[in-house]
Amino acid sequence: MGKFLKFLLAGILLLAVLAGIVVFRTISAHKPVQTSDVTPAELIDLDANVVAANLARAVQFKTVTTQKREDTDWQIFLGFQAWLLETYPNFYAAVASEQVVDYAQLNVWQGSDPSLAPIVFLAHQDVVPASEEKGIGWDYPPFDGVIADGFIYGRGTIDDKGSLIGLLEAADRLAASGFKPKRTLMFGFGHDEEVAGSGAKAIAELLKTRGVAPYAVIDEGGAILSGMPGVNSPLALIGVAEKGYLTLVLTAKARGGHSSTPPPYTAIGALSKAIVAIESHPFESGLDAVSTAMLKATSADQDFMSRMAIANLWLFKPLVEKKMRGTDSMNAVLGTTIAPTIIEAGFKENALPREAVAHVNFRLHSRDSVESVTEHVRKVINDPNVEIGLSGNIGSEPSPISQIGSGPYLWLEDVVRQTFPETIVTPNTVVGGTDSRYFAIITDDIYRFAPYALTPADLARFHGLNERMSVETFAKAVQVYYLMLEKAGE
Ligand SMILES: [Zn+2]
Repeated sequence: MGKFLKFLLAGILLLAVLAGIVVFRTISAHKPVQTSDVTPAELIDLDANVVAANLARAVQFKTVTTQKREDTDWQIFLGFQAWLLETYPNFYAAVASEQVVDYAQLNVWQGSDPSLAPIVFLAHQDVVPASEEKGIGWDYPPFDGVIADGFIYGRGTIDDKGSLIGLLEAADRLAASGFKPKRTLMFGFGHDEEVAGSGAKAIAELLKTRGVAPYAVIDEGGAILSGMPGVNSPLALIGVAEKGYLTLVLTAKARGGHSSTPPPYTAIGALSKAIVAIESHPFESGLDAVSTAMLKATSADQDFMSRMAIANLWLFKPLVEKKMRGTDSMNAVLGTTIAPTIIEAGFKENALPREAVAHVNFRLHSRDSVESVTEHVRKVINDPNVEIGLSGNIGSEPSPISQIGSGPYLWLEDVVRQTFPETIVTPNTVVGGTDSRYFAIITDDIYRFAPYALTPADLARFHGLNERMSVETFAKAVQVYYLMLEKAGE
């Protein structure tokens, strides 16, 4: 009995110590959102209607890229670029502009101090298609560039003509003011981000042959999002990493024939088993340096229980990860995802197909690679009759992770905090693909961020129906880009 009591007491003491540590860490981690020590920047004056009209005009150029290169109307890109030249004369007078493969454009604004590594700003000229059929959901035709109810409507307003025109509006004003950058500023405008990114790739390769090692690359991929679950303040999401991309084509082969005398092994059955095998063997998933930094950055803004869990990840990590896995968008940043997207087999209800084909799309976390994912898939399918091949594109590796909390990250964070003082700035992993991935050959420090204040509802619109940007949001973006360029060039 005495022994038992001793154990009990020791147990209670241990629990008390643990609880003490948990509470202490929670309280000491609970700092209010960092706003007080920032002096809001003074932004330039501009007429919001003038810049909105230019974005609306840009939308009217149907720079749509299509999966098949020959279906794209490349003449429109020439017209678009002629319009850019005419609309932003101060910018084009300040830079050395060159066409890089086809319709991609590199503009170099030479700085006076060659010891400073350049900063590269990226934006793409092309957009995804949009149905112009009447009555299917667009409130205004997607390529008319209509401004209504305080919004600029149209394909590309968010992705990515907002960034392209935003940068040009800012840079043109900066050049007109007589600004001479100390640091070289480069502007890379790819022409086929939505299909292949060959333009951005060529720009990155060209810069590599010239020995350019940028201080940082800034591209689309993050923004300021309000209305995120569990967090009150808007979040400025700076994409410091980007997931890789891979589509595997599974082909199951079996004997064809009449369905009245089927063999035990069929193509459709084998393919189904293969897909189930992949889905039931998910990839390793969990908090990494980026998602941990994000949790810490947002913790002060969350409820007590969440704060306690985040301040004590040494104890609550499995619980936190479990909770995150419950939200698809959070789950996607924790690990490599699996998405069967196409399945094709059979032609007649009483005939066995000799072949069944499925496409499975993977988005690769930085702990995985194209090779390791392919190997994992081969192992779990474990069926020599199911061939595993690559789809047309060869896939891309996950990006390196850019510096967080130092170097160019601090420079960008500073600009954001001065212009959106009410936001929490946090690093983030971008789950889609951007042109910036090609620049990993010349720098590790790639930041995916555009200074737009958006809501989750806005995000549902890009690549979808009624893509739009508010006039106010766009005007502010131009002002922030102006400050960003000015600070980059200083
Ligand atoms: Zn884009």
